[in-house]
Amino acid sequence: MRFFGRKNSSRFSGSSTAEEVTHGIDGSGLTAIVTGASSGLGAETSRVLALRGVHVIMAIRNVANGKEIRAKILNEVPNAKIDIMELDLSSMASVRKFASDYKSSNNPLNIIINNAGVCAPPISLSEDNIELQFATNHLGHFLLTHLLLDTMKNTALESGKKGRIVIVSSIAHRYAIRGGICFDRLNNSPGYFGSFFAYFQSKLANNLHANELARRFKNDKVQITANSLHPGAIYTNIFRYKSFLNGIFRMVSNFIFKDVHQGAATTCYVAVHPEVEGISGEYFSDCKIAKPSKLSQDINLARKLWDFSMDLIK
Ligand code: NDP
Repeated sequence: MRFFGRKNSSRFSGSSTAEEVTHGIDGSGLTAIVTGASSGLGAETSRVLALRGVHVIMAIRNVANGKEIRAKILNEVPNAKIDIMELDLSSMASVRKFASDYKSSNNPLNIIINNAGVCAPPISLSEDNIELQFATNHLGHFLLTHLLLDTMKNTALESGKKGRIVIVSSIAHRYAIRGGICFDRLNNSPGYFGSFFAYFQSKLANNLHANELARRFKNDKVQITANSLHPGAIYTNIFRYKSFLNGIFRMVSNFIFKDVHQGAATTCYVAVHPEVEGISGEYFSDCKIAKPSKLSQDINLARKLWDFSMDLIK
């Protein structure tokens, strides 16, 4: 905005790091939940937000890994406010327990970063009998956001600062198809779905979730924004289930991929940068508003997914 004089264009690029895009930002007084903070982009997002003074709640299922990450962050930023809470997004019971514990803590909540994700594990069902990637990448986050919305609304009212919901999607949402695993065929034999296909569908669901939240917040004049984003291609643990691809990605990652510092930049930018204040219902990539697929702009599909998800969490 400042450099190019164009509304909504930031001065950053795909090679900007999370530290660069948050330089000079004082996040003290803000509290953020980061899911999947035990690895990859979530760990780096937590580090950089903590560096900027944000109180970070690492919402993770692997507490031992999380403790190591937290210790490293505290080593670098001794006065960081950073806590760990256990959360398994593939289990509705775990998400409900997390939300209930969070409310009991009386912590405020300015930002939720729905970052955790699995990509192409063997096709299986969650403990709630839901396809695992849809359950983890979308439904767990949908329930988490739903249960903590009142806390976010109260914080926004009391602090006078708009809350932000940031949903880490992927460019892979473009390969999703209408009427896929999210909807009518969810409970049929899942064996015939490719595991990548289920990932694409779950990432489309991420975009639709952000858009529908944004639409509802606007209608109800709720002081919270919701956006989705593609972080770029980054060599992390995300390809752990595909050893062949993982090997190739590891070899080429230094040449064509972002590193994790760059990979966490768009998330941190959308979560705390003043340029994003008030922007809602958008899809970001490389710290700029980008064009998502046609399907993810389909208002009726977003409503349908909302109703479908609501039914599942009842
Ligand atoms: P990682 O695999 O490094 O991190 C994923 C995180 O999600 C881990 O902390 C993992 O925990 C957590 N997670 C997985 N399942 C669950 C669960 N059931 N409950 C709670 N936490 C869970 O991958 P990235 O950091 O790369 O991925 C972060 C996000 O970025 C994902 O949403 C991914 O889809 C997205 N993305 C990544 C891209 C990339 O190139 N890396 C490209 C586009 C999008 P644990 O360590 O316990 O498994």
